[in-house]
Amino acid sequence: MWTKDPLRTLRRLLGKGRLLTAPEELLLYSFDATTLRGAPLAAVMVESIEDIRRTVNFARERGIPITPRGSGTGLSGGSVPVEGGIVMSFERMNSIMKIDVENRFAVVQPGVVTSMLQEAAARHSLFYPPDPSSCNVSSIGGNVAENAGGLRCFKYGVTGHYVLGIEFMDCKGDLYRTGALSDDDSEPDLTPLLVGSEGSLGIFTRIALRLIKAPRKTATLSAYFDDTLKAFNGIESIIESGYVPSVLEYIDRKALSASSEHIGITCPEHTEALVLLEVDGDDAEVTKLASELQELLNGAAFQVNMATDDKGRGLLWQLRRGISPSLIRLSSGKIHEDVAVPRGSLYELVSAIREIESEYKLEIPMYGHAGDGNLHVVILYNAIDSISEKSATEASKDIFRATIGLGGTITGEHGIGSAKREYLPWQQSEAVISLAARVKRTLDPEGIFNPGKIFSN
Ligand SMILES: Cc1cc2nc3c(=O)[nH]c(=O)nc-3n(C[C@H](O)[C@H](O)[C@H](O)COP(=O)(O)OP(=O)(O)OC[C@H]3O[C@@H](n4cnc5c(N)ncnc54)[C@H](O)[C@@H]3O)c2cc1C
Repeated sequence: MWTKDPLRTLRRLLGKGRLLTAPEELLLYSFDATTLRGAPLAAVMVESIEDIRRTVNFARERGIPITPRGSGTGLSGGSVPVEGGIVMSFERMNSIMKIDVENRFAVVQPGVVTSMLQEAAARHSLFYPPDPSSCNVSSIGGNVAENAGGLRCFKYGVTGHYVLGIEFMDCKGDLYRTGALSDDDSEPDLTPLLVGSEGSLGIFTRIALRLIKAPRKTATLSAYFDDTLKAFNGIESIIESGYVPSVLEYIDRKALSASSEHIGITCPEHTEALVLLEVDGDDAEVTKLASELQELLNGAAFQVNMATDDKGRGLLWQLRRGISPSLIRLSSGKIHEDVAVPRGSLYELVSAIREIESEYKLEIPMYGHAGDGNLHVVILYNAIDSISEKSATEASKDIFRATIGLGGTITGEHGIGSAKREYLPWQQSEAVISLAARVKRTLDPEGIFNPGKIFSN
């Protein structure tokens, strides 16, 4: 055990203004977007590699945990300091260090907000496709540590597909460079090991990311269905026909009605589901694809809207964008799961969740990245009623069982963190879990990086 006394040493090492210890300041670094809470003894606002090294050395010598933190939008407790210690915040390491237009890549500090990189790339007619819905707040470091997915995954893939190299610090304070950031091409590329490591294997200090040519045009379509099965059949027929939309989102009636009430837009009567699509590419290609898709959907949906200009597209996106804020207001408690199944089993999963919902007498709005079989399941409950809370937890376990039974995973994109750690053995063998624990012990033998998360120590 350690006390607050050594913090004086850390303050001296870091200089003024970088170490927060006041309870009201620490409160801000005690949670993420889950209901999990931690009790940090200090938060360090790192500004340089030297700040990171001094903090790591200080913590290792005293056996103090370090929890790296980007923007705290995580949905699995990754940046919650569940075992106390030091929260290492990257909000001040937020510079886009380089955009190489000719070779189409960027080098950034981990604290860069995702949408800032997207905008900077766009100024050079380049495109950074990973697009988590939290992109206006989330950081690149957090995206890489969670291997974040998002709205454009169906066509463009997840964050990991764009990571060219990582500079990271290990628990001894040594700095390593992988992939494109390495000077030595002959080494094994450890980049994939670090992507999705949830702050548990090393601390990212710099990240190189692939950029691609920006599409010239984008069209958005919204298709309203009066039946859930028709919506999933519509999604399947799009994919069966060989189309690869950049966005392919499913939204159920409950999520739609919360959002429409919140933003003051009326949904057409009899709506059971909305499918939101985007296609992008060259002008002629997009015009052709969008009208073909509209025709294809016209058979199954009772209303299809299309827009290619920014204003019209913005209107079609309103209902999707309104979901998260509307659900927060809807109930005092919410468990947000991101289960994923092979896409062909999505309807079966949705039907199983409807049964779980009625068994536990809960409200469970659903929406998600249907193209990837990724479903956001929001279990609403009354946070001041322990019976309601217990029902929500039990329902969430049943949802995991149903998902695994369909060959799926308990997390499609939000990560394991501390929220889902106890359920990992439900889907992974003991052998795999213990192998992962050995990897963790090799890179972090003292177990100071983000203990209590994904890897067993
Ligand atoms: C409204 C909303 C919508 C969302 N939509 C999506 C979505 O579409 N797709 C999706 O995948 N997720 C989504 N998320 C979840 C979340 O935004 C992502 O997981 C995101 O990647 C977290 O980024 P962050 O900067 O907030 O990281 P944090 O929450 O601060 O941390 C996440 C993890 O990254 C680690 N970490 C942070 N910085 C570093 C570093 N420098 N070195 C090593 N480890 C580090 C932390 O220790 C932690 O384990 C959403 C969340 C919200 C609230």
